Amino acid sequence: MNIIDIMTTPVKIPFKKPAKWSGGTRRSAPSLVIQIVTDEGLIGLGECVGPTIPTIRAIVEKEFKPFLIGADPMRTEWILHRLEEYILNWSQIGLYALAGIDMALLDLKAKILKTPLYNLLGGLYRKEVEFADYVFIEDPLVNAKEAERSVANGFKQLKIKVGRDVEYDVNRIKEIRAAVGDDVKLRVDANQNWSVTTAIKAINKMEKYNLQLVEQPTPYYDIEGLATVSRSVSVPITADESLTDFRSAMKLIEHRAVSAFTVYPSEAGGLLKARQIVELANENGIWCVTGTWAETGIATMANAHLIAASRNFPFANDTHYEYYEEDILQQNLVFNQGKMIMSDRPGLGIELDPAKLGALTDMEIREMVFYDSQNDAAIPRIGQLL
Ligand SMILES: [Mg+2]
Repeated sequence: MNIIDIMTTPVKIPFKKPAKWSGGTRRSAPSLVIQIVTDEGLIGLGECVGPTIPTIRAIVEKEFKPFLIGADPMRTEWILHRLEEYILNWSQIGLYALAGIDMALLDLKAKILKTPLYNLLGGLYRKEVEFADYVFIEDPLVNAKEAERSVANGFKQLKIKVGRDVEYDVNRIKEIRAAVGDDVKLRVDANQNWSVTTAIKAINKMEKYNLQLVEQPTPYYDIEGLATVSRSVSVPITADESLTDFRSAMKLIEHRAVSAFTVYPSEAGGLLKARQIVELANENGIWCVTGTWAETGIATMANAHLIAASRNFPFANDTHYEYYEEDILQQNLVFNQGKMIMSDRPGLGIELDPAKLGALTDMEIREMVFYDSQNDAAIPRIGQLL
């Protein structure tokens, strides 16, 4: 069997409502759907997300595709090794493109072998994959109502975006905790906006509301600063923006900077690379949780396969899925009590809906999520909240 075509389709899924975080406000989920087509008619489904979909698409179309045409799709390691060498000097953006290829190759291989994708990643460790719902930045009582609704929908863990104003955030967490009670787990994500001293002060003020995790309190490049925060507070810290690929994971471990990793297969270069990070973390006593760029159902399901096949995911994982107006699958993903039940269908176990894909295709995909068009004064400056 040989690869005869790589199809790329940019899509933009509108959000039900704007999602405000410390670095901007986003209104949609842009991504790139990858289809690897074989001469025997089987198609592998993948997805790239990331900071610049047009650039990622050009990488897949202009750089990867000529190499992939004619290749045997079963030779995953051989293909990925060569593409990794190819992106050596521009790997930060290259890995986003590689991730969609890795995903589509694994979906294809699992379909060829007539087995679920999780069987290529370690087999079924857990049948149910738990997800957390998001609470973006709104007034405290609005957030409290949203959190109540999430819990009524079955979610038992919530991720609260913070990082624009400490007192405001403390108030939001207080109201959310009062609304959902003591049994729901709450974590916060500052997306790097605090300075080291502000992070310590803020976390100490929030601690009494019983936080599960604090995600990326300080700038991504300051690993020593992250370690200082970790050693100064009683809430476990997880690295998101500081954790991208395998080498960044090694650096965080070397500095004992965090207790957990927020892993993104889309940033790490795919599911196989993410799996290596998860195992490295496990051997070093570090928990993992998946993060999200706001993937469609394709990469959301791919992440679920990774989690389903690993021992090292003790927390509910990220998804923006509840914010989407629509998805591109024949059947939308179902979160039953916040949990996805893994099926035994081959590959990712999902089917694209061509009509929905067509309706959501957007060739002018650029969207600046790192900017708040509602508020000119809110200039994202990481690590600047004093
Ligand atoms: Mg984050």
